[in-house]
Amino acid sequence: MTDDNGFSWNQPRPLDPSLRARDFEIFADYHTHTVYSHGKGTIEDNLLAAREKGLSEVAITDHGPSALGIGIREVKTLEVIKARTTHYNRLFADIRVLAGVEANVITTDGRLDLPKEALKDLDLRVAGLHWQIIPASAADGFDLVLNNLVLAKLSRRMRRRARRVNTKAIVEAINRYDLDIISHPGLKMDVDTHELARAAARRGTALEISAGHPYMTVDFIRIGLKEGVKFSIDSDAHRPANVGRLESGVRLAERAGVTAADLINARPVRARQAAAARRAEARVALAEELAPPPPPSPAPGRSTAPKRDNYRKIPRVRRT
Ligand SMILES: [Zn+2]
Ligand SMILES: [Zn+2]
Repeated sequence: MTDDNGFSWNQPRPLDPSLRARDFEIFADYHTHTVYSHGKGTIEDNLLAAREKGLSEVAITDHGPSALGIGIREVKTLEVIKARTTHYNRLFADIRVLAGVEANVITTDGRLDLPKEALKDLDLRVAGLHWQIIPASAADGFDLVLNNLVLAKLSRRMRRRARRVNTKAIVEAINRYDLDIISHPGLKMDVDTHELARAAARRGTALEISAGHPYMTVDFIRIGLKEGVKFSIDSDAHRPANVGRLESGVRLAERAGVTAADLINARPVRARQAAAARRAEARVALAEELAPPPPPSPAPGRSTAPKRDNYRKIPRVRRT
C-alpha cells in the first residue's frame, strides 16, 4: 500500500536536507505543542508532520497546568496524552512519538507545576522559565512575573535581581527534578548562561537551541560547549507546519562548531559524507583562489550600461 507521495506505508521518508549539517543530522524534534495546550494541531498532526520531514522521533510537550490560560487543564491530561502516544506507536513503525511536557517553574526555588510522580511516567521532561504563569505565591509572582515583565525594564538594579533570581530558579529546578531539556534558555527571562550550563552539564540535562525563537546566538552555544553541556535543537512548534522546522537552529549550531556528540537529537553524518562535504568545500576554496581577477571597474563617471539611444535604433515591428 502506498500513500499520496508514492511511499509505501511505514517506509521511512528521506530526511529533509534542512536537518543536515556538515557533521550531524537531526533525527528528532523534542519540543512541540498540540491542542492539549495552545497548539493548533493534534498529536497525530504533529506526528505526520515530523514523519514528512524524515524524523524518527517527535515529542509532544504541552505546557504544564500553571501556564496562564494556555496550559493543560489538569495533571491527568498527561495520562491521556500518554495513552494516545502509545496508540500511535502501535500504528507507526517508522516513527516514535514521545509523551512529554513543558513544565513551568513556579517558585524562585525551582519548583515545577507538576508533581514528581506525574513526570516519572513521561518519556521526556522539558521545563522552562515563562512569565505567563500562575506563580505559587505572591513573592514568587513578584520575582518571576512582575520583575521580569515590568521592573527589570525600568531599573538596572532590578534587572540584575531578575537575572540572579531567574538563574537560581532554573538551576534549582534542574537539581530538584530529573529533567531532559531546558526550553529556550534566556527567552524573555534573562539567565546567567555559564551558571545554567554548568548545572545542566552536571545533571545531564540538555539546553535547547530553539529554532522557534529568533533570539538565539552563537555565543550562547559556545558558552554551553565550554561548560560541557549537551544541546537539543527543537522547533517549539505551535502548529503542525512548524514541526521539524529546525534549519535556523541547525545553522547556528554548525557555526558554533557543534558536533553530533554535543546533541541529544542528532547522529553523526557518515564519515564518507562528511569527507565528501569537506572535499567539495576545498574545491570551492581552490576555485575561488584560482579565479581570474575581476575586470577593472570603469573610470569614474563612465557607465557601462547600454546607452538609452541604442534602444531607439532597434526597428519597431509593425503590427498588422
Ligand atoms: Zn516555552
Ligand atoms: Zn514550548
